[in-house]
Amino acid sequence: MRKIGLVTGAGAVALGLVLAACNSASSGEDDGSTSVVASFYPLEEAASQVGGDLITVENLTPPGVEPHDLELAPDDIETIANADVVVYLGGGFQPAVEDALAETEDAVTVDALAAVDTVPAPPGEAEEGLTVDPHVWLDPARFEQLVRAVAAGLSDADPANEVTYGSNAEAYVAELAALDEEFRTGLSDCERTTIVTSHEAFGYLADAYGLTEVAIAGLSPEAEPDAQEIAELLDLVEQQGVTTIFAEELVSPKVAETLAEEAGIEVDVLDPLESLTDEQVEAGEDYVSVMQENLDRLRAALDCV
Ligand SMILES: [Zn+2]
Repeated sequence: MRKIGLVTGAGAVALGLVLAACNSASSGEDDGSTSVVASFYPLEEAASQVGGDLITVENLTPPGVEPHDLELAPDDIETIANADVVVYLGGGFQPAVEDALAETEDAVTVDALAAVDTVPAPPGEAEEGLTVDPHVWLDPARFEQLVRAVAAGLSDADPANEVTYGSNAEAYVAELAALDEEFRTGLSDCERTTIVTSHEAFGYLADAYGLTEVAIAGLSPEAEPDAQEIAELLDLVEQQGVTTIFAEELVSPKVAETLAEEAGIEVDVLDPLESLTDEQVEAGEDYVSVMQENLDRLRAALDCV
C-alpha cells in the first residue's frame, strides 16, 4: 500500500500558504523561531535534524516513557494548540494526540505515518485501534521518507526557510542512507534470520533486511502471550536454533526472561527507539547511534559474518 505524504494546514491544503503566513507572524515563544511539537522521540529527532536552530521542538513523550497510547496532560493539549507545526504518527498509535489535533486551528500538521509506505495491522491489533503497523522509523529507508515529510511541513509553516529545511533534510537523509547500507552489509551473511523480540516493533526492519521477526507481544507492548503462544514460541526457538531473545528497556523483561530461561538461551536488548532514556540522552545517544548498537546486537544474535 502506498500513501502520499499528507501535509495539511488545518485540514485544508488550499489554505496552507495563508495559514503559514499567520503562523510566521505568531510563531515561537519570543525569538521568532518556529515552534514544533513532536509526539515522540523519532519525530523529535527528525524535526531537530531538519529544523536546526530555526525551530524549537517539544517532545510530548518524556524520556523513558513508552509512547504507545500516550496520555496527555492539560498542559500538553495547550502546547499542541499553540504550536506552529505538530508532527505525529496517525493510525491509532497515540489516539490522544490525534484527538487533541482536532482542537488546533492554525498549526501545520504532519502525519508522519501517511508519508511512508505501511502495512496493515494484523486483525487482532485492529481491535486495539491500530490500523497499520506504526513502527516505520525502525527501517532507515522509511525514516528517510518521514524526514522529507517533516521538511515539507516545516517549509509549509515557514516558507522563508524552505531551502535550509530542504538541505538539512537531504544531509540527514544521506546519513540514514549510510546507516541503511551498514545494515544491508552487516546482515547479508548470517547463520540465522529469525529474531525473537519483546513487542512487534521490528517488522519493517526485518522486512528490509531479509529477517523474520517473531514477537512475544503484539504491535502494542501491553499485549501478553497466552500459554499456547508461549509453547509455540519455545518450539520455534528450538527448531530454528535461536540463541537470543530480545527484550527492551521500557517494557518489563519478565516474559522474555522466563522464556529464555525455559529455552536455556540468552536475553539481550534490542532498542525500538520509541523513547530515549535519561541515561541515553546524557550519553549523547541518538537515532543513528542506537540503531548502530541494534545492528551489533542483531549480528551477534544471528552469527553474521
Ligand atoms: Zn511499539
